[in-house]
Amino acid sequence: MSRDDDTDMQAKRRAEMLAVLRRRGIASEAVLDAMAQVPRERFVPDHLAELAYEDGALPIGDGQTISQPYIVALMTEAAGLGPESRVLEVGTGSGYSTAILSLLAGHVFSIERHDTLATAARERLEKGGYLDNVTLSVGDGTLGLPEQAPFDAIIIAAAGPRVPEALRAQLAMGGRLIMPVGSASGPQKLTCVTRDGEENFRTEDLAPVSFVPLIGAQGWQR
Ligand code: SAM
Repeated sequence: MSRDDDTDMQAKRRAEMLAVLRRRGIASEAVLDAMAQVPRERFVPDHLAELAYEDGALPIGDGQTISQPYIVALMTEAAGLGPESRVLEVGTGSGYSTAILSLLAGHVFSIERHDTLATAARERLEKGGYLDNVTLSVGDGTLGLPEQAPFDAIIIAAAGPRVPEALRAQLAMGGRLIMPVGSASGPQKLTCVTRDGEENFRTEDLAPVSFVPLIGAQGWQR
């Protein structure tokens, strides 16, 4: 297959993925438009490029995964981002959702605990031209980035036993934190926490999900 044929094929698959997301209830045109712009095949290992637009998670190394497109869309939509939003992402992984967030927000701070994944994500994001409003770091994202807080949205792409207190404290007033909460390998709920006041947090469940564990001082210990 020529490079042009391959690009056309991936564009067609991307359009089909967007149709699936719409059918599953993603209504934000801004989120769908951002997902239409990011070539997911560049964020998965080469041998899995053909599967890049299936609505599923895929392995990216170090026992980690790139999240399912529908879940990326759901979390991004729930975050309610605008062009001025400051976003903290915990779990850069492949960098795919970081790229999407960078198209919707003012600035994205993304933390990954695996050095190798963070390095590969940086290369992809740099190559794709996404780094102008993205700051990447390696470390324990359960502690957040207090020096950059407050954040209008915090998106955590790994499942913890509870919402980390450090992250709750770094939410701006009116800000939203989206994360899977539940057991490390069993049932989890995608949870949205909205900060309504200094000590006032509202919690709603969005969907049952299955994520890799959030490992850290305020996550699972390992
Ligand atoms: N959103 C990513 C993407 O688009 O590829 C997928 C993220 S993957 C499901 C979850 C990531 O969270 C993994 O890369 C894992 O190493 C990372 N992670 C787990 N605990 C973490 C922590 N405490 N701090 C930072 N990253 C963490």
